[in-house]
Amino acid sequence: MDELFLGIDLGGTNVEVGLLDTQGAILARDSFATEVKLGPKSVIERMAQACEKLIAKNNIKRDRVKGVGVGSPGPLSIAKGILINPCNLPGYANVALRAGVSGKLQIPAILNNDANVACWGEFWMGAGKDVKDMVMFTLGTGIGGGIISNGELLTGYDDNAAELGHIIIESGGRRCGCGQLGCVEAYASANATAARAIEALEQGRPSSMEKVRKQNNTITCKDVFEHAAAGDKLANEIIDGTAQALAQVCVNMLHTTEPEMIVLAGGMIKAGTLIADRTAHYFQKMVWTIKKEPTKICLAKLGGDTAIIGAAGLALHAYKKRSLYPIGK
Ligand SMILES: [Zn+2]
Repeated sequence: MDELFLGIDLGGTNVEVGLLDTQGAILARDSFATEVKLGPKSVIERMAQACEKLIAKNNIKRDRVKGVGVGSPGPLSIAKGILINPCNLPGYANVALRAGVSGKLQIPAILNNDANVACWGEFWMGAGKDVKDMVMFTLGTGIGGGIISNGELLTGYDDNAAELGHIIIESGGRRCGCGQLGCVEAYASANATAARAIEALEQGRPSSMEKVRKQNNTITCKDVFEHAAAGDKLANEIIDGTAQALAQVCVNMLHTTEPEMIVLAGGMIKAGTLIADRTAHYFQKMVWTIKKEPTKICLAKLGGDTAIIGAAGLALHAYKKRSLYPIGK
C-alpha cells in the first residue's frame, strides 16, 4: 500500500496539520489555535495529538505513515531541527521542534522554515509542477523567499539561504526590520507598500485613498490595490514602485540561479494578477538585452494548502533520499 506523510505548519496564530499521499492528495486535515503563550511543550503535544487523530479517524494503518514534515517561522536550524529565534513565537528560541514532534509520534521527521516549505509546496503540486528551477517570493507582512535549483531546495551552509526579502536593492535606502538598509522587503512587502502610500498622502499628494486614511486612520495594502484598480494615479504609482522593486530582485535572481519560473505568493496576490503582470512588465524592461529571457513570473496556485502540502512533500522527498532524521532526533 502507498506510503503516507504528515505535514505540519506552525504559525503564530494557527497550527495546520494534514495527511497526504505520495501524489500530493490531502486525505485529511485539521487545524487548531497555536496559543503561543501556552509554551512550546504544549504546542508540540497538541501537534502530535492532532496528527494521531487524523490517522485514527481515517482508519489508516499507522505504519503507512513514513515521515512528518514540519514548517515553522525561522530563523531555524534544519540540521539540528531547532528553532533559533522566531520573532512571532516569543519564548520559542532553542526549542527542539523536530525531535519533539518526531519523538511523540515515533515517526522520522524533517524541519524547514515556512517560506521554504511553501516554495516546495508550489514546486511539487502548484505553479512550479513542470519546472526544475524556480524561485518564490511570499509577499505578506514581510517578504519570504525560496529557491529550487535543479529540483532541490537551496538551504545554504547554515540553513538560511533564500532570505530573498533582505536582498538590498538600494544602497543606504529604507530601513528594514532586519537591521539592514535598502532591503526589498522595506519597499515591496504588503506593509511597506501601505507605508509608502501613507507617506505620499502625508506629503499632501492627491488621491482617492485620502478618504480611507481619514476614515480608518491608516491605509492597508489591500486599499492601495483597490484604488489602483479603480484608476487612482497615486495608488498606481505606489504599486508600480512595488513591482519595480520586485522586478529588480527577479533580474538579480535570474543572474544567480536562472529560474525558469518566478512565483509570487502570499496575502498580496489576493488582489489578483496586477502585481505579477506589472512585475513581469518591469522585469522585461530591466533585464539584459544580450539574450532573450522568457522567465515566467506568475502567481502561486495552492492558496491556503501550500504549507501542509509543502511540509508533507518535503518529508516525502527526504524519505526518498533517505535523509529524514531518525525518530526523536
Ligand atoms: Zn532586511
